[in-house]
Amino acid sequence: MMSDSRQAVFPLIEEEWLLATARNIASAFKLRATGTQLRIRVPSRCTATNTDGWAAVIGDLGKGQPLLEIWLDRFSGHDDRQLSAWFHAEERSDITAIVDRMSAQLWPVRRVDVGDIDRESHLVLNKRLARAEFNAPLLVENGEFQSFYGIYDLASHASAKGTANFCNRATAFFEDVARELPAGAVAEEQLEVYPRIENRKVVASHLRRERSRLLATECKIRDNYQCQVCEMRFESVFGILGAEFAESHHIIPLSKLKENVATRLEDLATVCANCHRMLHRMDGTENDIPKLRAIIQESAKANQPKVTT
Ligand SMILES: [Zn+2]
Ligand SMILES: [Zn+2]
Repeated sequence: MMSDSRQAVFPLIEEEWLLATARNIASAFKLRATGTQLRIRVPSRCTATNTDGWAAVIGDLGKGQPLLEIWLDRFSGHDDRQLSAWFHAEERSDITAIVDRMSAQLWPVRRVDVGDIDRESHLVLNKRLARAEFNAPLLVENGEFQSFYGIYDLASHASAKGTANFCNRATAFFEDVARELPAGAVAEEQLEVYPRIENRKVVASHLRRERSRLLATECKIRDNYQCQVCEMRFESVFGILGAEFAESHHIIPLSKLKENVATRLEDLATVCANCHRMLHRMDGTENDIPKLRAIIQESAKANQPKVTT
């Protein structure tokens, strides 16, 4: 009964839905990928996979390099097919080189290998993917079937918003990896921030964590794009132009920042552009956000027009 009504609101079959989603991601991503080594192309078809689903290739990291793919399948172990975004290579070392770079600083990775996979009729995880493991990077090393590094997402077929969130997460993930690959030195002008902090190395490491688009996207979705300092939402001020716009700030004090410890979602707060610039003129401690909030409240009070009675 439920599935009947769902089909009524969503007439596309799953294979078509995957292709449409992959085409959306590739189109949205084409411009963003300029300046990276990514080569994006809008797919015209998808292929059946050994995981009871389909996959579409939307580009690669260069000639002979890992492919970028969007999948819809049952590998996660859930009854419904789930969307996922992957780097895929025949050479295991091509993928592990990427993972080593990314997991050292940005995200820890969950490893899945042959022992975790049930291969009865099609490939599926023995133990289905927990909710908390969606949107977090997975490394699938399946010997005979090549290597994959990517994220699963719980986007619902019936929800346009769910699909849009998946598109944002997938492009953020691909872009993070692409930007991290050519030993990206932090631009000098970026180091102008934190005028009170002497240690350039620590500032560079902090900025690199803030540049992680996947975690930033997760953070902004969690906070509903609202500044956690002044409560401003860009959409309330700029209408549709400001929809899904905000920045994310790494709140771990600079003095406590350790190299080679991955950033967690809890370490980030959504902020507006103004508050973000001001935070970076502060001391780099955990008190910066409450302190800035107090400053804003004080000056709002001081600037209130005097009511004459
Ligand atoms: Zn703000
Ligand atoms: Zn920041």
